[in-house]
Amino acid sequence: MRLLVTGGAGFVGSQFVRATLLGELPSGTDTRVTVLDSLTYAGNEANLGPVTGHPGLRFVRGDIRDREVVDAVAAGQDAVVHFAAESHVDRSVVDASPFVSTNVLGTQVLLDAARRHRVGRFAHVSTDEVYGSVAEGSWTESSPLAPSSPYAASKAASDLMVLAYHRTHGMDVTVTRCSNTYGPYHFPEKMIPLFVTNLLDGRTVPLYGDGRNVRDWLHVSDHCRGVDLVLRRGRAGEVYHVGGGTELSNRELTGRLLAACGAGWDSVVRVADRKGHDLRYSLSVAKIREELGYEPLTGFDAGLAGTVAWYRDNRDWWEPLKARAGLPT
Ligand code: NAD
Repeated sequence: MRLLVTGGAGFVGSQFVRATLLGELPSGTDTRVTVLDSLTYAGNEANLGPVTGHPGLRFVRGDIRDREVVDAVAAGQDAVVHFAAESHVDRSVVDASPFVSTNVLGTQVLLDAARRHRVGRFAHVSTDEVYGSVAEGSWTESSPLAPSSPYAASKAASDLMVLAYHRTHGMDVTVTRCSNTYGPYHFPEKMIPLFVTNLLDGRTVPLYGDGRNVRDWLHVSDHCRGVDLVLRRGRAGEVYHVGGGTELSNRELTGRLLAACGAGWDSVVRVADRKGHDLRYSLSVAKIREELGYEPLTGFDAGLAGTVAWYRDNRDWWEPLKARAGLPT
């Protein structure tokens, strides 16, 4: 199988590429991967370190909005697995332009190239944030989209574009909507890696508002197993949820992170809440479980312990990133 993986130097995309080429995913045994990534501040070739030099890997530095580049790499592929995106909600609150440009326009450029080259399947990777906030119960794949942030709105727009290419052009597309993902190689501006790296350095951590906001946590290896299952066996034109099954308030999560890093609540600084901050996300995973047999395999406690250990052991990876990004502590 020949895969074009966009955003393959980012957090989730690089896990997918590593797992595929190292044979940790079923589609990996005979797969050749072309990574297309423009290496924004969030992209990092070092994330592909464990598979550098692998005969099945080709890395192309390029932008998904660049029609010529996209056309060249789409030719001859069996499938596109589309991770590339601007992904940080806080940045979309400050400036939504790159989010609309990459997430919406970039997706449309890719869809057109995939169609021109008759790529077999277009597996679009999306997020539970497209649904907004849910007070009780869990979203199903047919729940209405009600995004709160410009990031979530741009992802919802890209999902609808992908599904429209299925209806209009008969393209073979799938959409996965995944919950908050954590694990190694996560850019240290997001909550878990920011808190862990600050705490490892004896610094404080910023907790939004009253910390009541609830998220469902999914280990990055389970996220990629879900994407791989849907890529290989999902039905065309369908949306599938990939959830982790561990709902925690940010306050509860903070408590776990403090304990894991040997710090106390005096390390926590309350900061003004994020604008438009959704209170709760919750995905039903009944569809992917019943149709494709998906279950998350990494329990949260083990996953978090492994993640903290990885950051403890890989300062060389995150220290320069934090310094370059001028991240507040
Ligand atoms: P990330 O920010 O770590 O990585 C994004 C990657 O895309 C980077 O390597 C970046 O260089 C690349 N990229 C950005 N703009 C590009 C462009 N115009 N052209 C080419 N490459 C470009 O993001 P992530 O956390 O790995 O998320 C990957 C996907 O998974 C996104 O689509 C995101 O919406 C989705 N997702 C993420 C999570 C999560 O919690 N991390 C949860 C659900 C869904």
